[in-house]
Amino acid sequence: MKKIVILSLFTIISLLSCNNNYLNPDAYTKEAIDRKYPYWNIGMSEFKIAEGLTNYATITVEEKRFILRCMALMRTAVNTTEFPTEVKKKTLASSVNASYGNVSIKVGDIYDNDKLIDVVRSLQYTNFIYEKMNTGGAAFGSVGQSRYVRYVGGQDPNQIPTANWVGFENANWIQWSGNSLYGYASFSGLMFHEHMHNIGFTHVAETSSNNVPYGLQGVVQSLIERILYGDLKTKYATALDELTAYYYTEYKHLLLEDSVFDPSKK
Ligand SMILES: [Zn+2]
Repeated sequence: MKKIVILSLFTIISLLSCNNNYLNPDAYTKEAIDRKYPYWNIGMSEFKIAEGLTNYATITVEEKRFILRCMALMRTAVNTTEFPTEVKKKTLASSVNASYGNVSIKVGDIYDNDKLIDVVRSLQYTNFIYEKMNTGGAAFGSVGQSRYVRYVGGQDPNQIPTANWVGFENANWIQWSGNSLYGYASFSGLMFHEHMHNIGFTHVAETSSNNVPYGLQGVVQSLIERILYGDLKTKYATALDELTAYYYTEYKHLLLEDSVFDPSKK
């Protein structure tokens, strides 16, 4: 009898906790998320602090969560039906000379927007490194090979090499962004800009007003502003919740403690 009571108590407790689970963890497996949000399937491998710093520096758990939230925001934006609509309004020119097979582009050539959308959306890359460093108040992304010519030239999209590194200013990233919803949108836009470098887009003087990194940074940032506090807030609230829960869960091993760099201990 006692056993049965204990068992039923457990059943009741587990039923209650099930009913109280706002987020069902099973819904956020990588496979489920990739099926539901197939585009811009990006992830990260590590947070780093530049070895050459001369001052004490940290990346706090809070900042790490901020970065993961920005990853969820970027992915939400790229998966919206508004993303292609907004990209198609742009006229974007190449800042590189590149070729693959019989496809080639030169500086100043205008990208085909439909192809550009596919080139960006098809990215699946889960090894980005985010580093804290002295940037002089900016951000950097290593410039990879032109994903555009390779994608259009018929290379398997998952075999196209992607550069994996992005560096942000040596400051508290949340404070640096302004610690506001607008800060999330602008920092996410900045991240997106650097990731455009990672897939081979860049900007030179000849294309200063219509290059891909700044052009699509603008598209993504303004979509995120609309998702956070504008006309798209209700429409994409669930998507953003699910992607945020996914990124926090997928990278919980990176959220155990602050990263610390102490030059006196080098
Ligand atoms: Zn740039």
